[in-house]
Amino acid sequence: MNEESERSQNHTARMARKKAVVDAAIARASEQRGVFLVLTGNGKGKSSSAFGMVARALGHGMTVSVFQFIKGKGDTGEQTFFQRQANLQWEQCGEGFTWETQSRERDIAAAQAGWDKARAALSDPAIHLVILDEMTYLFKYGYLSLEEVLSVIASRPAHQHVVVTGRAAPDALCAAADTVSEIADVKHAFRAGIMAQPGIDL
Ligand code: ATP
Ligand code: MG
Repeated sequence: MNEESERSQNHTARMARKKAVVDAAIARASEQRGVFLVLTGNGKGKSSSAFGMVARALGHGMTVSVFQFIKGKGDTGEQTFFQRQANLQWEQCGEGFTWETQSRERDIAAAQAGWDKARAALSDPAIHLVILDEMTYLFKYGYLSLEEVLSVIASRPAHQHVVVTGRAAPDALCAAADTVSEIADVKHAFRAGIMAQPGIDL
């Protein structure tokens, strides 16, 4: 046997073993229920990943509610695009980052008002996916009770998916989640002086 056909044969055998492992894992994952995801870390890609799931869910005809905490400029591509879609609720629950508004009282009031609406979505069985974008900052600044949020998430409708994004997710939030991704900041164009780019950053 020449080297190339031996390599092909080895590859086929390796792929057959791999397929058996993957098939067994798929057979084990038989539970069907809503999942709770946390997307955290200092790298870029948390909110845009959440919006990718919004697109997936809408594509399946599912109903989605998005709550954007802290950031509230309202001129992002995702908001403009998704607001045109049916089956979607989009709420801006903040006026800007805390160093822009410089008013703790106003930030707390906006966070609480946003959370009241989010809590309603988290108890509504007609909503299939709830995005709580940049929610982690509310815990960091003490604007919202983590215990209360965890208890509302835990008692949501069984089929409802929830995604929380934001840096420095508290340990208890990650512990409660089914899926946690920590996106590492390897490099970011902004640090090389490149402005935030429409379509990429907003
Ligand atoms: P995105 O919305 O692009 O997925 P993100 O949700 O992971 O980003 P945030 O911390 O919410 O990140 O910040 C949003 C904005 O800040 C985006 O314009 C993003 O490109 C930028 N950004 C994210 N991470 C970094 C970083 N490590 N350094 C500089 N800018 C960043
Ligand atoms: Mg974000």
